[in-house]
Amino acid sequence: MSMKLEHIGIAVTSIERHLEVWRDIFGFVVGEMTEVTGQKVKVVMLDVGGVHVELIEPLGQDSPIHKFIEKRGEGLHHLSFEVKDLKEMIEELKKRGVRMIDDVPRSGAHGSVVTFVHPSSTGGVLIELSQEGAVEQEV
Ligand code: ZN
Repeated sequence: MSMKLEHIGIAVTSIERHLEVWRDIFGFVVGEMTEVTGQKVKVVMLDVGGVHVELIEPLGQDSPIHKFIEKRGEGLHHLSFEVKDLKEMIEELKKRGVRMIDDVPRSGAHGSVVTFVHPSSTGGVLIELSQEGAVEQEV
């Protein structure tokens, strides 16, 4: 399997507040702020040296990230791995008994498609699998 760590997702109540550490004190370069309306979040990426940290802030009370923070507090939310062919990867993982959250890729940020592997299969950490530019390719 060909997977590469792309980013580490951290759930926060306020991106602005946490940029005071990640950007202003740590000095990491911040990308554009994006809203992923399908998942009711806004996200910002910081380049932390080859991989990224994604700060994720809920957009409203019905956001899954809002529920996550309510239950577990701010903190590590997921690891995101880039894959070459997401559909093929999902089939392969299912065949090997890995528990998936979604069987069908959904749209993520920046024209990517994503899917999630259930934490019960990975030692308690939610895993996002992402294929870059897949949406544009299909058009
Ligand atoms: Zn992510």
